[in-house]
Amino acid sequence: MPDGSLPARPLRDADALAGAGLVPPGDLPALRAVAARYAVSVTPAMAALIDPADPADPIAAQYLPHPSELDATAQELADPIADGPHTPVKGVVHRYPDRALLKPLLACPVYCRFCFRREQVGPAGGVLDEAELEAALDWFAANPGVREAILTGGDPLMLSPRRLAHIVRRLSAMPHIGIIRLHSRVPVADPGRVTAALAEALDTETALFLCLHANHAREFTDAARAALRRLSRAGVALLGQSVLLRGVNDTAEAMEALLRTMLANRVKPYYLHQLDRAPGTARFEVPIAEGRALLASLRGRLTGLAWPTYALDLPEGQGKAPIGPDFAERAEGGWRVRGPLGGEHFQADAAP
Ligand code: SF4
Repeated sequence: MPDGSLPARPLRDADALAGAGLVPPGDLPALRAVAARYAVSVTPAMAALIDPADPADPIAAQYLPHPSELDATAQELADPIADGPHTPVKGVVHRYPDRALLKPLLACPVYCRFCFRREQVGPAGGVLDEAELEAALDWFAANPGVREAILTGGDPLMLSPRRLAHIVRRLSAMPHIGIIRLHSRVPVADPGRVTAALAEALDTETALFLCLHANHAREFTDAARAALRRLSRAGVALLGQSVLLRGVNDTAEAMEALLRTMLANRVKPYYLHQLDRAPGTARFEVPIAEGRALLASLRGRLTGLAWPTYALDLPEGQGKAPIGPDFAERAEGGWRVRGPLGGEHFQADAAP
């Protein structure tokens, strides 16, 4: 924020952003049109991190609308990972045999400008009503092959602790559900929501993982660190997921800082996503070759604990494929393996 002050509540439209000095008033007509198409929300915590004097601010790039969002390219898809065709009942997405998504609501604390579900999420995007939620939970109960329930949305930590506790309790009571996973941006984007009551709602005997979405080291404010500490004290295992984004984390320095900061907060980096081609997001795309080179440059210089799986979600619901750098290639009679410190080794096949 220009004067270092915090807005009292999330900034939810172009005029509010201009009023806070975060976007130039001259852009207002274009940004009003963008905001009419795609939801906007910048929480006080994230607004406070933005330096409006820096046109390349990596926090601003993630959350502030941009006029180019209305220019979709031919390669972009409204539902890039095809949730729709894999929805057996409202709020459930079943793509893989052993796990399924539960989307209890479509609201988020912030609306990321690169979101792959941008056509669905938003404050008016909907919450499952009580009967729909029970029907979705009944689907999990009736499908014993599903071992893992993944709560996503939207952001499941936007639910009240009471509603969240109910979902966690019902899933925990299903003997075949061995893992409950929640995907959330709340601990960084709106850390004040991580109250003792919310942490208590996640307390279960079932293994429960929270997969934090964060893309830049600066998102880990003191309040975010405290929120993560509260969750880990409650027994929640923390994983990290990020999207490789032009202008946010596409340099070795920015990516190293992000991965190190995650680990320093007990968040194990899990996925680095190649951008899904949702409409109007082309300005964020980093070519795969560049992403592979970036990750390869970090191998050896960064603890193996920090290594995420670089992955691409294939269109039409074909699943997530690892696309990270290779260190081994087949050679006559064995394998040529590149070492992380620059050397090379030939590993001959074992004698028959
Ligand atoms: S928090 Fe997740 S679901 Fe919500 S807008 Fe951001 S990327 Fe999309």
